[in-house]
Amino acid sequence: MGNQISRCCKECGTQVDHLPTLVEYEGQEIFLFDPVICKNCLLNLCDTFSVKCENCGGSIPPYSQVGVLKADNGQRQFVHMNITCSTVGSAFYGYWGKGNLHHFIEIEAC
Ligand SMILES: [Zn+2]
Ligand SMILES: [Zn+2]
Repeated sequence: MGNQISRCCKECGTQVDHLPTLVEYEGQEIFLFDPVICKNCLLNLCDTFSVKCENCGGSIPPYSQVGVLKADNGQRQFVHMNITCSTVGSAFYGYWGKGNLHHFIEIEAC
């Protein structure tokens, strides 16, 4: 009892006891505080919304920082924003959410 706040998964409504939700997807750990999503749903979202990293060819799961490259055809390409996958001259970065980009920021091009 007490004053514990019960949090429910935004996707399926299951109660989530521990935050952040921690899953491992293709060798990458994902910690998710917000939104509240249970493990199963988060893994499903990873399968559905992951994008391919143009740098290392691996997949970038949702709810992680991404570097954004603009391809010649106007499409966006994404790269990891982590140490193991160094970004190549990325002038943009953002936050890859559930199938769309949040907090998309343009950095001074170098
Ligand atoms: Zn769920
Ligand atoms: Zn990568």
